[in-house]
Amino acid sequence: MQIANMNEITLVLLKPDCLAKRHCGDVIKRFEQAGLEIVGCKMMFLSEQLLAEHYAHILDKPFYPDVQAFMQSSPTIAIALSGENAVALVRELMGPTDPLKAVPGTIRRDFGEDVKSNIVHGSDSPENALAELKRFFSDDELFTTSLKR
Ligand code: UDP
Ligand code: MG
Repeated sequence: MQIANMNEITLVLLKPDCLAKRHCGDVIKRFEQAGLEIVGCKMMFLSEQLLAEHYAHILDKPFYPDVQAFMQSSPTIAIALSGENAVALVRELMGPTDPLKAVPGTIRRDFGEDVKSNIVHGSDSPENALAELKRFFSDDELFTTSLKR
């Protein structure tokens, strides 16, 4: 991976419901206002295989077919975000999986609908973030920083 700065990097996916509801700008704004910086960004249709790898931990759950259908209902937008404590910060800004259990002011509570259609994915640990970034981005699609210093 090209990135060798001191900042942590995490993977965010803007899910199909985020695009359908035209909330991409709102969600990205929350991350930027929290001090996170975009260091990679692309629109992707997620294949069955990529989804099975990304969601390996829920592959055997009865609801997985619905998750797959939802995640393939449109392209998604994959974003690499860099910043101090980026993984935990993104998870905090997102709120928990179920928007109804999230507090107002979190992305999932403010824009999400239910436990499946919850607007956004964020890596849940620095280790998983690295694995997910490798899964979604090639080296030349990630930048040490998007800003000129
Ligand atoms: N999901 C679902 N039903 C559930 C749990 C999860 O449809 O009971 C979906 C939901 O879209 C969630 C994704 O599967 O975001 C991945 O689940 P995970 O437990 O990793 O939650 P997250 O890390 O996204 O909060
Ligand atoms: Mg997860």
